Amino acid sequence: MKVFVINSGSSSIKFQLIDTQTRNYIIKGIVERIGEHDSLIRWSLKEGGSYRIEQKIENHKHALDEVFKILLDKEKGAISSLDEIDAVGHRVVHGGEKFKSSVLIDKDVLNSIKEYSILAPLHNPANITGIEAAMELLPNVPQVAVFDTSFHANMPRRAYLYALPYEFYSEKKIRRYGFHGTSHKYITERAIELLGLDINNSKLITCHLGNGASITAVKNGYSVDTSMGLTPLEGLVMGTRSGDMDPAITLFLMETYGYKPEELDKIYNKKSGLLGLSGISNDMRDIMEEMEKGNERAKIAYEVFIYRVKKYIGAYLAVLNGADAIIFTAGIGENNAHIREDICRNLEFFGIKIDKEKNEQANGKEVIISTDDSKVKVLVIPTNEELKIALETENIVENR
Ligand code: ADP
Repeated sequence: MKVFVINSGSSSIKFQLIDTQTRNYIIKGIVERIGEHDSLIRWSLKEGGSYRIEQKIENHKHALDEVFKILLDKEKGAISSLDEIDAVGHRVVHGGEKFKSSVLIDKDVLNSIKEYSILAPLHNPANITGIEAAMELLPNVPQVAVFDTSFHANMPRRAYLYALPYEFYSEKKIRRYGFHGTSHKYITERAIELLGLDINNSKLITCHLGNGASITAVKNGYSVDTSMGLTPLEGLVMGTRSGDMDPAITLFLMETYGYKPEELDKIYNKKSGLLGLSGISNDMRDIMEEMEKGNERAKIAYEVFIYRVKKYIGAYLAVLNGADAIIFTAGIGENNAHIREDICRNLEFFGIKIDKEKNEQANGKEVIISTDDSKVKVLVIPTNEELKIALETENIVENR
């Protein structure tokens, strides 16, 4: 089946046409700076060739219009008719408590996604714009929503409830939802397959360490706890997000310095994390480069990042009563042996031992990086959220 995968952001659309049989993309690309004068479309073909066009793109519908023209282009495209697209899979960030799995999109589903915009004001409206544009341009093609939150939807209440007045949950649905679910689910399934585990008797800790970062305790194939919360701000130290902190800091900053909610939102989401601590960059590669040169602030950012991941691994080992495996993925987790080694250092007590050589050779590949006698296996598994969205979409469409 050929599935067109759309990941729609506020000013960008990432797209891939995926052949679910070969599990490969046919064409993939991104439309950036939608709504601005210098919009840019970049794409590449699996068979070779990378291209770019700079032109003003008015809105998401216009962007998809241009993308479909590109798909159909005789030289730089990938298909001869839009009829070749069997289904469209949309990444949707927030599915609230309602969507425990991927779902065929109809009017009711679209309305629910709109309702959940209150919980993801930056993401869901952008996802909706992408869905509406795709439905208009491909009215007869089934469209499926794959939610970032679904994988975490079966967490026990002891893990998802905050210890606030209960009405905050029962009336306003304030609880832990968790994100990056498509990625955590994909690496869970890959790890189970690679290690030959029985999914119904398995315990994993999955670490998605990218610009956004989260960690999940997975029992018998289900997320039982995860570091991100009501929003993707909670948990690990991220590129520009603070992760965990004392909520009283917010009150202190408002009362003492007069910060407004929108200012704090920007500080916590865009100016904190690696960037805030280092004052240098949100990119771990820059942090490590500066650290090599002896930059103390870069070292601080690195240390806090590593320590937080380690602390969560410890917590989830307790939650799961040990683990079969720990899996690293995403930009940092897939590509940096040094970071994986530092996170796993001094965890021998828990039966975690890294094989230095295997670890160094693992970057970007599916590899077991623990020693043969390590009780807990440690793996690198490159994530592939688009492929997972395509496979979920195929499954929903075939079983409708
Ligand atoms: P996202 O999808 O959340 O934007 P990615 O998963 O693509 O992020 O990860 C991006 C991050 O990965 C970059 O910000 C960078 O810090 C980090 N990264 C990529 N390659 C390396 C590397 N070799 N060493 C350390 N960090 C890396």
